[in-house]
Amino acid sequence: MSRTSPLAAEGSAAALERAIAALRARGCPLTLQRRAILERFIGCTDHPAADTLHADVAARVPGLSRATVYRTLETLVELGLAVRIPHPGWEQRYDPRTDLHHHLVCESCGEVFDHESPALDHLPRPARSSGFLAQGYSVQFRGRCAACARSTERRRPAPRRNGA
Ligand SMILES: [Zn+2]
Ligand SMILES: [Zn+2]
Repeated sequence: MSRTSPLAAEGSAAALERAIAALRARGCPLTLQRRAILERFIGCTDHPAADTLHADVAARVPGLSRATVYRTLETLVELGLAVRIPHPGWEQRYDPRTDLHHHLVCESCGEVFDHESPALDHLPRPARSSGFLAQGYSVQFRGRCAACARSTERRRPAPRRNGA
């Protein structure tokens, strides 16, 4: 499966340049390592964990530390260029998409998929009287992805026919 959607790929180069510029403005020198991390992450749709990203990028950039990957991701979050996705029971994920969208979270394989739903984009915010200042939200559906649901089907013993 492609890690970059056609739509994301279009804006990906611009998004990459934006991220590079933001990191520079922040005083983070653009090392080869950091550039490789950004190239893997910006525009991706697989919501990687820091460890996954580290494994992928370290294959191309030997000597890359997990701490560098983690710090770069956290800096992107601080700069508003990425969001953290909590994934209870699994390692936290990161998403380069910061616009309002939702997720389908597989509790079997851990994959996280984007989920678009105009209806969910218009949930009522907490009343002002609650005193809570909501800054955002994202809905997560937990369950099993199509691939995991299929493999569970296969594992299930075939139903016995009467008289067989
Ligand atoms: Zn799954
Ligand atoms: Zn997402």
